[in-house]
Amino acid sequence: MKLIKSVCPYCGTGCGIIMETNGKSVRVLPQKDHPVSKGELCIKGLTIGDVINSPMRLKTPLVRKDGKLQPASWEEALSFVAKEFSRIKETYEDALGVFASTKCTNEENYLIQKFSRVVLGTNNIDNSARLCHAPTMSALQEEIGKSAMSNSFEDLAQADCILIFGSNPAVTQPVGFSRIQECKKRGGKIVCIDVQKNETARLSDIFLQINPGTDLVLAAGLAKIILEQGLESKEFIAKRTKGFGEFADSLKKYSLENIAEITGVPIALMKEVALLYAKGNSALINGMGVAQKPFGAETILAIANLALLTGNLGKPGSGINPLRGCNNVQGCCDMGCLPDFYPGYAAITEENIKRFEDFWDAELPVQRGLTEVEMIDAIPEKILGVYIIGENPMLSLPNLNSAENSLGNLEFLVVQDMFLTETAQIAHVVLPAACFAEKTSTFTNTERRVQMIRKALQPKGCKSDFDIIKILAEKMDCKKFNYRTPQQVFSEIRKAVPQYSGITYKKLGSSGMQWPCNKSAPKGTKILYEKGFEKIPTFYPVSHREFRRSTGYPFYMVCARSLAHYNTGTFTRKVESLNRAELENALEINKEDAERLGLKEGEIVRVVSEYGEIMLEIRMSDNVKSGTVSTKNHFFESAVNRLTSSELDPLSKTPGYKNCFVHIEKII
Ligand code: SF4
Repeated sequence: MKLIKSVCPYCGTGCGIIMETNGKSVRVLPQKDHPVSKGELCIKGLTIGDVINSPMRLKTPLVRKDGKLQPASWEEALSFVAKEFSRIKETYEDALGVFASTKCTNEENYLIQKFSRVVLGTNNIDNSARLCHAPTMSALQEEIGKSAMSNSFEDLAQADCILIFGSNPAVTQPVGFSRIQECKKRGGKIVCIDVQKNETARLSDIFLQINPGTDLVLAAGLAKIILEQGLESKEFIAKRTKGFGEFADSLKKYSLENIAEITGVPIALMKEVALLYAKGNSALINGMGVAQKPFGAETILAIANLALLTGNLGKPGSGINPLRGCNNVQGCCDMGCLPDFYPGYAAITEENIKRFEDFWDAELPVQRGLTEVEMIDAIPEKILGVYIIGENPMLSLPNLNSAENSLGNLEFLVVQDMFLTETAQIAHVVLPAACFAEKTSTFTNTERRVQMIRKALQPKGCKSDFDIIKILAEKMDCKKFNYRTPQQVFSEIRKAVPQYSGITYKKLGSSGMQWPCNKSAPKGTKILYEKGFEKIPTFYPVSHREFRRSTGYPFYMVCARSLAHYNTGTFTRKVESLNRAELENALEINKEDAERLGLKEGEIVRVVSEYGEIMLEIRMSDNVKSGTVSTKNHFFESAVNRLTSSELDPLSKTPGYKNCFVHIEKII
């Protein structure tokens, strides 16, 4: 038996694991000396061995012939993909698109975006950050210049107060939440702000159960109280920020009574929270509950104002801390798998096009690419071929009935994945991909920690994304992908991504290093902005925004996550023990609403929105207030995205998943 240190491939916490392997299969144990997980793993991490060893893993490429996916050799499948990509590239203008993977390694994602730009000749590359935290990225870039968690899990324990907006880390990042709870053990206060009384709310000191979509107004209310009480940091505002006057003026149009009415939070409770936040070292955490709105970026800008107002940035126990979802969503964005940024968040400007043309010795496309939802909307008029790597848009995209129709209309769809996902089932070619346990490379967690994953097994029948991209580039006559190892790619990343320039595989060890790591920070950076800001933080004037709702849909629908399952369930629904923990979806409804509609526990109802309908079993719950219902997003049988809208946040182009209203029909 060999013991190999690696990183859990589920969520952005990036817990340290030990893979015990006999060379054929893997059992997973917690890594005691890991700086974030400290010997803890949640049930998903503990059972990841069942995913690695799953008999359902794809082992042979599949090519659609006579309308059916049929086994093919690697040579046949990859030659066909190269031929079709070349045909579409040569026949049409910018008609290809790429979905990169937040589950793939940094090295693979770097190659994927380089393949997209250099070989396919397009900036139409995006990743699932677009479906979750792109509003946070856009807002933080706009307001303070860096689109990442400012502090660290370890450091959040030092906070006197943590405000958690629209996130349920007790379920979505359980081990990360253990670190957050250390703040409480030290006497700090945790405040949860959410529409639903979720697990985090139950474990917090104070819970503000806001009306749907009112977090932006609540943040304005907290700011107003801080100013009225004279608790703002006058020195920080004067010396380190701009735009304060306009922001303070924007608050004048609200009265606290008005804010209390909009948000549903009593003034006294708002005052208690505002004082707690302003009087100590305090941290902000935000999740997709605030990001996935048609005004998601504006909401995050309004929340981030609180940190600027109180000087809670650049010191321990403070900051603005988005909890990024997937294990490597941070790294995937750092590597430039975005339609408007090269690696290292270099915008697609004339200067940067020239810089990367010289660096890659290639001609690059000049126009900004399309985002994931824009690519789907452009099928079949503009986009004809899509290459999807390790994502499952047939469940994750909003307005799924329409998205399904678009993906079904593609001239050529290639899916590269470990399993025959709902998206792979409609592809023209399916390429079986190796999993994290079959690779040595790096992931970057939500707190910017770049960590080594190490190979424990040889891939059986499948190939690593690294190898597949290399072969495809060669078959498309590109000689610029002759890397021998992922380490060689990492050396190139160090030159392309300034934040990674000081990191080497050797320095990463078993704890990793947090970017930026460079000449001025050779050991990495636990807390951003301690030495100042590259861009002057700018206050954002707040304006009231509301959810759009159509008549005839009286219930607000919350789409939440469960402890046992993850995203579209591609991994977790292959694990027997996780399926036993939660086999089916349900509709949580307040008892009062259920009685009014004559519904009983266990009864099946039809849930209908403007965009589609699904069937769900009724479950009575006091988690939701009257007028709100809640369900989970992991189940293809009752895919909640059949109900959601593809209306986009104008700044980040993220769909407003959380703007979802439904009516409930009793089935007679
Ligand atoms: Fe894996 Fe996240 Fe659970 Fe840690 S908290 S074991 S990274 S799923």
